[in-house]
Amino acid sequence: MGLYTRDSIERVKEAVDMVELVGARTDLRRVGTRHSGLCPFHDERTPSFSVNAEHKLYHCFGCGASGDAIGFVQETEALDFKAAVEFIAERYGVELKREQEDPRAGERRRWRERLLKLVDRTATYYARYLWESGEAAKAREYLAGRGLREEVLRDFRVGYAPS
Ligand code: ZN
Repeated sequence: MGLYTRDSIERVKEAVDMVELVGARTDLRRVGTRHSGLCPFHDERTPSFSVNAEHKLYHCFGCGASGDAIGFVQETEALDFKAAVEFIAERYGVELKREQEDPRAGERRRWRERLLKLVDRTATYYARYLWESGEAAKAREYLAGRGLREEVLRDFRVGYAPS
């Protein structure tokens, strides 16, 4: 999973309606060329929070919070950069493109996926062996004797290794 292309991120930034985005969090009133409202990042009674719709930036003269649309979404939605980009892209209908993955990273990723599948199959095999084999009957009794419920053990895929 590569990062999004620089071009994708630029298009996301262009598509944002900053006043609408921020306006969903705090009421904004137009004051000259800016929009002003109560800061969503600190507690205040008189507005010191300002949005520049043209440059798509916000700044608070009270607490100093400032940034662009992606930063705003990161802060208010508690998302990392990538998730914030996705949030805005979804909201404003921007199609995101990923960077081409370099071939060696791709090879490592595919190897990791194969390994995970193998571990998964192995775990499934051992878990089934615990519940279905005659050999594991004693183990099943032991677990039941300890008050461990079968559905919990199945959830955790506790298994039994054939001798
Ligand atoms: Zn503030």
